[in-house]
Amino acid sequence: MPDCIFCEIVNKRMKSEMIHEDEELVAFKDINPQAPVHVLVVPRKHIDSVNVVTLDDMILMGKLVLVAKEIAEKNNIDGDGYRLVINNGVNGGQTVPHLHLHILGGRRMTWPPG
Ligand code: AMP
Ligand code: ZN
Repeated sequence: MPDCIFCEIVNKRMKSEMIHEDEELVAFKDINPQAPVHVLVVPRKHIDSVNVVTLDDMILMGKLVLVAKEIAEKNNIDGDGYRLVINNGVNGGQTVPHLHLHILGGRRMTWPPG
């Protein structure tokens, strides 16, 4: 997808602090961290948002969570807990239109979210 910054990162045309790469997913540190651990898990495939996820993406979406779980364990935030977030669309606060899962940990989160 032209002009998509996460496609640029996936394809290594833009720098990032990459912490995980496999055939389907990458994960890198958020450039503007909102918690001591703030990592984005991103499918290599460009998907605009949850709005356009289909049954064909079912395994990919499952792997998104499994990779997040592994990253949480590696960062030692699994014991104390952490938050997984997928912002969707304008009201959801999505700013980058390439589906991604936020892993936020290392501090106590509040509810309701802002
Ligand atoms: P969202 O608002 O859910 O779409 O999240 C987009 C996230 O991407 C924000 O937390 C940004 O800080 C983060 N972000 C934007 N550009 C970059 C970048 N070049 N490298 C790493 N994270 C980024
Ligand atoms: Zn993209």
